Amino acid sequence: MRFIEPHAHMVSRVTDDYSALLLSGCAAVCEPAFWAGFDRSSSQGFYDYFCQLTEHEPKRAGKFGLPHYCWLCINPKESEDVRLAQEVLSLIPNFLNRPNVLGIGEIGLNKNSRNELRVLEMHVDLAARHGQLVLVHTPHLEDKLKGTRLIRDVLKNEPRIKPERIIIDHVEEHTVELALDAGFWAGMTLYPDSKCTSARAIDMVDRYGAERLWVNSACDWGVSVPLAVPRTALEMRKRGHSAQAIDRLIYVNPLRFLSQCPKFKVNDEHP
Ligand SMILES: [Zn+2]
Repeated sequence: MRFIEPHAHMVSRVTDDYSALLLSGCAAVCEPAFWAGFDRSSSQGFYDYFCQLTEHEPKRAGKFGLPHYCWLCINPKESEDVRLAQEVLSLIPNFLNRPNVLGIGEIGLNKNSRNELRVLEMHVDLAARHGQLVLVHTPHLEDKLKGTRLIRDVLKNEPRIKPERIIIDHVEEHTVELALDAGFWAGMTLYPDSKCTSARAIDMVDRYGAERLWVNSACDWGVSVPLAVPRTALEMRKRGHSAQAIDRLIYVNPLRFLSQCPKFKVNDEHP
């Protein structure tokens, strides 16, 4: 088995998780910028975080022969303070040329507030001005449908970013079509007790086809499973999906989307 983990918050994981990923056939891991488990007190905290994502974490992953990539932004959970967001956004252009930066993400909405929406628009403009890929976080539970619609409208109003360069992550049964119909990619996040289980993700693949879908673990400091992607592959095999169909969902698809950034390269010397 070979796979790409396209959404994992490795700064919150122990080193053993890297070796488990590699042993399971992981060819690259990608880390969107997100909340740190607590609100940072200043833009300086984000500066250090961006250094961690672009300098230190790739070195930690490199010890296991795993290519590590990241996405940069101020996440929706900390986007209520527009002034802080402006300060953080002004730091990002200086990091965009670093070799492991894939684009702007995970941006989006958390509580669908007016300030979050304003900060989302600022990020979309930043991505458009710098020709970056975009990775979008959608809110949870009852806010998800409304938030996904609001996000779609912001993105559709931005003619400078092609829809195939945008992925809407954490989709569920009631939002997946919204993302795909708009021409975006869609990501299914595999969580043990919220978001999406393996079985539900495979049902969505059966229903909508895997043309523009990927799966990820989004593992962080909460209850999450760093090997959720390979476990889903085993579940697909049990349900009779071909080796080729599994490879497409967990390896070829993320490779197709992420290779739109020329910096993205997988470790194809994997045993
Ligand atoms: Zn995330």
